[in-house]
Amino acid sequence: MGRIYKYVPMAYYKTIFDIDYEKYYQYGKRYIMFDLDNTLAPYDQEVCDEKVVQLLKKVQEIGFMILIISNNSKERVDKFIEPLNCLSVFRAMKPLKKGFKKALKLLEVTDLSEVMLVGDQIMTDVYGAHKLEIDTILVKAIKKTNEKWYTKFNRAREQRIYKRIKKKHPHVYEELKELIN
Ligand SMILES: [Mg+2]
Repeated sequence: MGRIYKYVPMAYYKTIFDIDYEKYYQYGKRYIMFDLDNTLAPYDQEVCDEKVVQLLKKVQEIGFMILIISNNSKERVDKFIEPLNCLSVFRAMKPLKKGFKKALKLLEVTDLSEVMLVGDQIMTDVYGAHKLEIDTILVKAIKKTNEKWYTKFNRAREQRIYKRIKKKHPHVYEELKELIN
């Protein structure tokens, strides 16, 4: 993968509700790793809301195996996924490979091309998954105001990446810029 492309997702959507899951199933995807904070819910929302519960149920009905992969704590993740019937990895330490490897093991993945990750951060979700050749979908962060200092730090790095993409791959930037604010 090229220097810039390791930061460029396979696709981008405003929210998890806009993703055409059926299409990705037809493409051969069978497993989805979802980031939690600012992908499924804002940081300050403790429990998964009904709308998201229903969406994820629908995604499972299509035939996907789902796993929540978060850098946040066990308490945060366990509480959030109570109404969900899915696997999870907490303190994943994205973008390091360790958490992703654990997730792949839990999902019993044998073919990496069947996996995709949905997340809101270039520096942790997208870049990390790409290290393992996992395809990624980027969504717009739900609410950036409550982000922790290290996420703010990653956001600043993200802006630099976007600048590089804008310069070298203007067509990619045109589609990505919708997600930047
Ligand atoms: Mg996130």
